[in-house]
Amino acid sequence: MNKLIIFSAPSGSGKTTVVNHLLETMSNKLAFSISATTRSPRPGETSGKEYHFLKLEDFQSKINNNEFLEFEEVYAGILYGTLYSEVEKIWAEGKAVVFDVDVKGGLALKRRFEKQALAVFLRPPSVEILLERLTKRSTEVEHQLKERIDKANYELSFESQYDVIVVNDVLEDTFKTCEELVLNFLDNNG
Ligand code: ADP
Ligand code: 5GP
Repeated sequence: MNKLIIFSAPSGSGKTTVVNHLLETMSNKLAFSISATTRSPRPGETSGKEYHFLKLEDFQSKINNNEFLEFEEVYAGILYGTLYSEVEKIWAEGKAVVFDVDVKGGLALKRRFEKQALAVFLRPPSVEILLERLTKRSTEVEHQLKERIDKANYELSFESQYDVIVVNDVLEDTFKTCEELVLNFLDNNG
C-alpha cells in the first residue's frame, strides 16, 4: 500500500528537525515531499531541496494546471502546496512520503488518504517555549515572527483531529517516539 506520513505543528515546534532526522535514519523507507512555495528562500535554502521556490505567477499556473494535491495560503500572501508529481515519484521508488504541511493541508491529506496516512501533530511543550525556539532560530523578521506566534494558538486547536500528538520537549525522546510511530505504521498497516 502506498503510504503517507504527515507532520503538522505551529511554526517553531520542531517539524523540520524531526522530519530531517527521520529522513536521515530511514532513508531506505522514507522520502520528503518537497512543497512549492512563493516565500523567499532563507539563507542556506536552495530551490529543489527544502522547497521549490516559485514566483507567484508560476505557482498560479500550476494551480490552473491542477498540479497540486493541496495548497494553502498559510501566511498572508504566501502560498504553499503539495505537488502530485512529488508524491508519485516517491511512491514509484517504493517509499512512504513524508510531509511537513500546515494544519489545514495536513487534515486535507488525511481526509483524502484515510488509512494510508498517519497524521502526527507535533506540539511544543508551551507557547512560551515555542516563542523562545522561534526567536533563537532567528529566521524571521519581527512582523513575520509575530504572525507565526499569533497563528500558533489557532493551529493548536486542530491537534485533536490528528491520529497522534507528540509533545516535542526533549529532542532525543521525540526522535525515538517518532521513529517508533513510523516503523509501527509502516509495518502494521497493510
Ligand atoms: P518548524 O520546522 O516546526 O518550524 P524547526 O525544526 O525549525 O521548527 O525548530 C525550531 C527551532 O527549535 C530550531 O532552531 C530547532 O533547532 C529548535 N528545536 C527543535 N526541537 C527542539 C527541542 N526539542 N528542544 C530545543 N530546541 C528544539
Ligand atoms: P516555513 O515557511 O516555516 O518553511 O513553513 C511555514 C508553514 O507552511 C509550515 O507550517 C509548513 O508546515 C507549511 N507548509 C509547507 N509546505 C506546505 C504545503 O505543501 N502545503 C501546506 N498546506 N502547508 C505547507
